[in-house]
Amino acid sequence: MTYICIKCRTIWVSGDHTSEYSGGLCEVCTTDYIRDRQKSQGFHDCFKKAIELCSRAGCSYWLLCNRELNTATSMCAET
Ligand SMILES: [Zn+2]
Repeated sequence: MTYICIKCRTIWVSGDHTSEYSGGLCEVCTTDYIRDRQKSQGFHDCFKKAIELCSRAGCSYWLLCNRELNTATSMCAET
C-alpha cells in the first residue's frame, strides 16, 4: 500500500507494493503530533528522544516510543 501523509504530503510505501493509495500521518508528523499531545497533557515532549529504554512505563506512548530501542537491544543480544 502506498500512503500519502495528510499533513505534509510525504509519500511512502508500507507492505506490499500496490496501486492503492491511503491517507495517514507520516513518521515525522506522527512524532510531532504525539509530542504535542504529551505537552498538552502536561508531560515532557520526550517522544522518540530517548536514547535508552524509558523509565516512564506508565506513559501511553511507551510501546511506540521504545519499539526501536527494544529491537536494538534484542539485536545487540544476538551478536
Ligand atoms: Zn507528514
